[in-house]
Amino acid sequence: MAEYGVRKFLIDKRARGSPETQEILDRLGGTALEETAKRAAAPGSREGNVSRTAMGKDFLHLLPYRGAFLKPCPGTRRYICCGYQILNIGTGCPLDCSYCILQAYFKDQPGLRVFVNLKEGIEGVMNVIDSAPRRIFRVGTGEFTDSLALDPVTRWSDLIIPKFSTRKNSVLELKTKTTQIDGPLRSRYRERIIISWSLNSPSIASGEERKAAGLRKRLEAAARCQSEGFVLGFHFDPLFHYPGWREDYLRSVEMLDRYIDPAGIIWISLGAFRFMPELKPIIRKRHPASRVLDGEFVPGLDGKLRYFKPIRIELYGYMNEILEKWSQDLGLYLCMESDEVWRKGMGWSPGDNAGLGRYLDQRVIKVFGGIP
Ligand code: SF4
Repeated sequence: MAEYGVRKFLIDKRARGSPETQEILDRLGGTALEETAKRAAAPGSREGNVSRTAMGKDFLHLLPYRGAFLKPCPGTRRYICCGYQILNIGTGCPLDCSYCILQAYFKDQPGLRVFVNLKEGIEGVMNVIDSAPRRIFRVGTGEFTDSLALDPVTRWSDLIIPKFSTRKNSVLELKTKTTQIDGPLRSRYRERIIISWSLNSPSIASGEERKAAGLRKRLEAAARCQSEGFVLGFHFDPLFHYPGWREDYLRSVEMLDRYIDPAGIIWISLGAFRFMPELKPIIRKRHPASRVLDGEFVPGLDGKLRYFKPIRIELYGYMNEILEKWSQDLGLYLCMESDEVWRKGMGWSPGDNAGLGRYLDQRVIKVFGGIP
């Protein structure tokens, strides 16, 4: 936790006395974190001036979650989405990528919120999955937080890996930019578990992904997981268009080749940088040296700002070309793109949400086997 600059923790009164809270407190006992009775101030509030820049990233907040733990990925209207399900283990991330959309999503809920009633909630999630035995649930925890950054303290991987690994109609994807792989490696389960890394070009990784592990370290951790029997996923999302981007992304693919056996990859997603307009002033304020806003952006059909279509097609076309040269069986797919961009960038299209869902379900069946 110290490596991410987390210094304080707050226990919500509804979380006091729960066994999960106690387990987390026991683990925090070995760290230098200090208990506080005060919430992280919301950015924009008078006392929130400091947090406006820190977003409460130094602040762990233990609380129960009252909503549904499993929810469909919000995706985006008018573009093709994959039908992913989000297991909501917490919100906020101790890493600090300049482009992170969570800065806008959770600007009124600062802090690293850890949901201490997950043990109870996961039973309801598994009931939902068991009640639809013919459907494949592709589930991930890495949408509202990094899946593994806080795992040494929360140990959520100990709890959730066995649940998903023993189902035939689900896969669990743990997505990270860290090297916190001890939890998954400690587990004796491998079936239907995917450990994924978000990758970028070396210059974006070092210049824009503060507190994340360097690219080489991420790939070393991925190689270790692969050698220990885990299936891997990768996500080049967001892709950026800047002078030298082709050479830069080629270097990342060359590094992938050096560390990873492509036969053990279930999928690689590609997504060009896109953002809600509210994110722009936050990036300017919190990351004044960032280059991610260089270039021209236009509002897409969903109101998010995106690169012009020809630029997106160029980004995908090139990534498709260099990744396909490496292996033709990588399960490449686009996140939130139109049928036209799919066709022009990738040379084919799943057509719609259902088509993309079927394509990814087929990848699951190919790698892990079908539903008996
Ligand atoms: S790792 Fe992901 S969730 Fe964490 S700051 Fe970076 S983009 Fe946001």
